[in-house]
Amino acid sequence: MHTIDCVRENVSNAKKNGQRVSFVPTMGALHDGHLSLVEVAKRCSNYVVMSVFVNPTQFNDPRDLVAYPRMLEEDIRKATNSGVDLLFAPSEMEMYPSCQPECISKSCKVLAGSRADGLCGATRPGHFDGVVTVVSKLFNIVQADVAVFGEKDYQQASVIKQMVQDLHIPIEIITAPLVRELDGLAMSSRNLLLSAEDRKSACEISKTLFAAKDMVSNGQCGVSDIRDYVSNQLLKTGKLAIDYISIVDTITLDPIDDKIVNSAQLLVAVFCGGVRLIDNVRCQIAN
Ligand code: AMP
Repeated sequence: MHTIDCVRENVSNAKKNGQRVSFVPTMGALHDGHLSLVEVAKRCSNYVVMSVFVNPTQFNDPRDLVAYPRMLEEDIRKATNSGVDLLFAPSEMEMYPSCQPECISKSCKVLAGSRADGLCGATRPGHFDGVVTVVSKLFNIVQADVAVFGEKDYQQASVIKQMVQDLHIPIEIITAPLVRELDGLAMSSRNLLLSAEDRKSACEISKTLFAAKDMVSNGQCGVSDIRDYVSNQLLKTGKLAIDYISIVDTITLDPIDDKIVNSAQLLVAVFCGGVRLIDNVRCQIAN
C-alpha cells in the first residue's frame, strides 16, 4: 500500500476483528535481519505491518541518501513470503506532504532526547531528529499495539524507547537480537554497497568486537585498554577508518570513563571503502 488512508482503513479493520497489530519500520533492501523482526512481530501479534521508506530527513549526507539501495519489488516478495500482512511503501510526498521537495526543513519535527547525544548522534548531526520524526509519523499512521526494532541499531532502539516514554506514545517497543552473516558481519542493507575486497575487510569489525567482549569476560575491564585494542585491530587492516569506538551504559548510553562494572555496550561506527558500517556487542564481566 502506498497511501496513509489505505493503511488506516486496513489496520482499523484488523483491530475491529480483534487482532493485535505489530509494526516493523524499515528502509527496505530487506535481508534476514529485517525478516527476523517479522518473526518476533508474528510471535507477539496476529497482524504484522511493515514499512519500507528511505527517510530523507535522517540522512545528514545527501550522497549517502542517493546511494542507499532501493529494491521495492524484491522487498514486496520477501515481506510477503515472511508473512507480513500489510506492507506500507509511501512516497516522500505522502510522508512529507506540505513541504515538497525543497523545504522539508520547514515542517514540524520531533527532537530526539539525550540518548541521541553521543555515538551516531554526535557524528551525524540531525540524524536522530529525522529518525524520531519519521517514526512518530509512522506510529501515528499505523496505530500499532507494538513495534519491533533491531539491536543492530542499538542507539536508535534506545532513542525510540526514550521518545515513546517521554511523549507518552501508547505503543510497546520490543527489541530483537542483531543478526549476522556467517562470517560475523552484522547484516545491513549497506553491505550491498561494499566491493568484494572491502567486504572481506569488514569482517574484522565483528571479529574485533567479539575479541573485546572476551577480554571483558576474562576480567580486563579498563575502558581505555579495550578502546585501544579495538582501534589498533581495526586500523591494522589498513582498510577501515574509525568514526567512533564507545563504551557506554546499556540503558542510558552515558559514556563509561574508567572501568566496566558488571556490563556495558561496546559500539563502533567504521568507514569501509566509504561505506559507513555500525556494530555493537554487550560486554559482561563473568561472575
Ligand atoms: P533499516 O532498514 O536499516 O533502517 O532497519 C530497519 C530495522 O531493522 C531497524 O530496527 C534495524 O535495527 C533492524 N535491523 C537492520 N539490520 C539488522 C540486523 N542485522 N539484525 C537485526 N535487526 C536489524
